Amino acid sequence: MLEWDQDTPVDAQWWDTKIREAIARRSHFAGRPETDSYRIIHSEADLLPGLIADKYGDYIVVQFLTSGTDLRKEIITASLQKYMNPKGIYERSDSNSRSLEGLAASNGLLYGEMPPEQLEIRENNIRFRVNISDGQKSGYFLDQRENRKLVAGYVKDKQVLDCFCYSGGFSLYAQQAGAAGVTSVDSSAPAIQTVAANYEANQLQANPEQLIEADVFDFLRKAQAQQKHWDVIILDPPKLSPSRQAVERAQRAYKDLNMQAMKLMRPGDLLATFSCSGSITLDHFKQIIAWAATDARKQVQIIQTFGQPEDHPIRASFPESEYLKGVLCRVI
Ligand code: SAH
Repeated sequence: MLEWDQDTPVDAQWWDTKIREAIARRSHFAGRPETDSYRIIHSEADLLPGLIADKYGDYIVVQFLTSGTDLRKEIITASLQKYMNPKGIYERSDSNSRSLEGLAASNGLLYGEMPPEQLEIRENNIRFRVNISDGQKSGYFLDQRENRKLVAGYVKDKQVLDCFCYSGGFSLYAQQAGAAGVTSVDSSAPAIQTVAANYEANQLQANPEQLIEADVFDFLRKAQAQQKHWDVIILDPPKLSPSRQAVERAQRAYKDLNMQAMKLMRPGDLLATFSCSGSITLDHFKQIIAWAATDARKQVQIIQTFGQPEDHPIRASFPESEYLKGVLCRVI
């Protein structure tokens, strides 16, 4: 559903206006030198169903998720070029949702220059290397920007475990905020290599023994057996519930994961735990955390909740646009 007013034609002008307005809503981001990367179009929540566009430094990465937006690539690209004036616009339409509309994946340059293989972006004055053509999602997880900053507020002089670290978002913030040590775990070898490169890009010292390629579920079980301990644990898993039908299985996976982490925790320790599954609400997630605590035999307080940053808005009439949530727990 693109337009409610029958008398308004959905033509090139319509798309151009909606794109211009979405970009204008982020105009205050443009003047922030500390952050050069953010989402400029967030699909339904910006009144543009099936369209996602992210700004990465001087480049734009766009995803056409429906056949409607796929058919209008050219006019959408022209408007993005007109209002953002990027060096290049790259398409990363390889989300699973395209197959529901019978569309194949489609990746490649739509306008301008090809982004460098290791594009360096800035987020809250921390540098990250982003591989736009091969990285996961559109190369980096822009939606955790504010949460990384909030979690970094609790880590000074602490030992931190960043699970599902990808390119090290939470790890780099923690290191920068004066953590005593940061252990980063991800099952993807290229992700772990990127964490190392990101430490270097920020003149931070990484201990290679603390960059660990492993399955988090296995890692946490082994850590229990070895009686390892961290003061702050971060759990930012991939979407464990890809659809409403998968909720029941996913809730068991979330519970198991959080329980394994809680078993490692002592009174006073913190757990920052997230879910990016749209089919699991914040209330449901809190319930899962309560079950995890019971099974880990821990008393847990929720001391903060996390959500989406303003460049990933939630449209009031479209609750499905709320997908990222998290809680900060303290074991007492
Ligand atoms: N916290 C990251 C984003 C995490 S995305 C950030 O701030 O940018 C989820 C990550 O989980 C991906 O990097 C993926 O490689 C990793 N992953 C998926 N399943 C995993 C598993 N079972 N064990 C470890 N890592 C896993």
